[in-house]
Amino acid sequence: YRSKPTPGRHFLQIPGPTNVPDRVLRAIDNPTMDHRGPDFGKMAKALLEKLRLVFQTKGPVVIYPASGTGAWEAALTNTLSPGDRVLMCETGWFATLWKEMAERLGLVPEFIGTDWRRGADVAAIEARLREDKGHLIKAVCVVHNETSTGCTSRIDEVRRAMDAARHPALLMVDTISSLASIDYRHDEWGVDVTVAGSQKGLMLPPGLSFNAISEKALKASETARLPRSFWDWKAMLAANATGYFPYTPATNLLYGLNEAVDMLLEEGLANVFARHDRHAEATRRAVRAWGLEIQCAEPRHYSSSLTAVRLPEGHSADALRAVILERFNMSLGNGLGQLRDRVFRIGHLGDLGDLQLVGTLGGVEMGLRLAGVPHRPGGVQAAMEYLAGNA
Ligand code: PLP
Repeated sequence: YRSKPTPGRHFLQIPGPTNVPDRVLRAIDNPTMDHRGPDFGKMAKALLEKLRLVFQTKGPVVIYPASGTGAWEAALTNTLSPGDRVLMCETGWFATLWKEMAERLGLVPEFIGTDWRRGADVAAIEARLREDKGHLIKAVCVVHNETSTGCTSRIDEVRRAMDAARHPALLMVDTISSLASIDYRHDEWGVDVTVAGSQKGLMLPPGLSFNAISEKALKASETARLPRSFWDWKAMLAANATGYFPYTPATNLLYGLNEAVDMLLEEGLANVFARHDRHAEATRRAVRAWGLEIQCAEPRHYSSSLTAVRLPEGHSADALRAVILERFNMSLGNGLGQLRDRVFRIGHLGDLGDLQLVGTLGGVEMGLRLAGVPHRPGGVQAAMEYLAGNA
């Protein structure tokens, strides 16, 4: 689908969809099977079981044949009723889209702001919950890793804030660009609904999304009155109990998911997280050596799955990305919302090794030069020194 011949492999370094490993591609390439037959049931039942390990939960995880946006809608419609208040955090573009969805569904979101340069404001969440003596707020919704800014919110701290305020709201967390890249603990952090997608840390093409569901969320779903049909957990969980789905699942993507989960478990989740932390640190060292600014201004909130880089005033991030695509066959993430053309985003999540990262940073450094963006050379060198020194 490239418009001109481009020797060598395309570098897909956007923060998702990410590179799909050959092992996963080969698994997807198996013949489609009868999704009501015995072999499918066996495969899916085992998959639904081991998938829980990735979410660090003992509870159910449901899989939708949909992009992440569908799983957002599923989280809200299964647990809430028209007119319910929800506390959401404006960490960036994706948090804003989720909030707009809540409004369209007939919920009443309150939006706690940030400057898009840090994660959710935990103190503000706690203060607002303490004020809500009548417990009108039914859910707190946080995007764990804000893909538009490269800021990661501290979900453990959000949980503690909710507990300190003794507030019974549900906690819903979007992990679309953090699951299987950044440490995330559904059970330990008392999350009620975790939303995830296939196309980032899970190393699959787009097309699957997930809800991990707590007992409290399941209980809430019994009385939640927002209309839902396709997204309804009840029919899904009933069918999943024997390894089946209430409608036709994305059979071949499930083969891929099965393989991807095996790969993650073979590497070990702790090693997967450490690999992402290390690549993120190497990337930040490169950015600093170039003399450019990282969009995330709070080191405690640095993202391990992507780094958003600010362009000096008067320079276009989109022009830089265009040069890099044209000359080096590499895609980088664009700025979204208020960051349009102001930042570019380097995805360093999913199936990524040291040399791919060095190649990625090399493409950026050459692109900065070709696009005439003021910078100092030596970013790639700084990254290599860090990677070699921490091999
Ligand atoms: N939430 C986050 C944090 C995302 O990064 C994305 C997509 O990039 C979404 C939600 C929306 O997911 P999708 O585009 O798969 O519907």
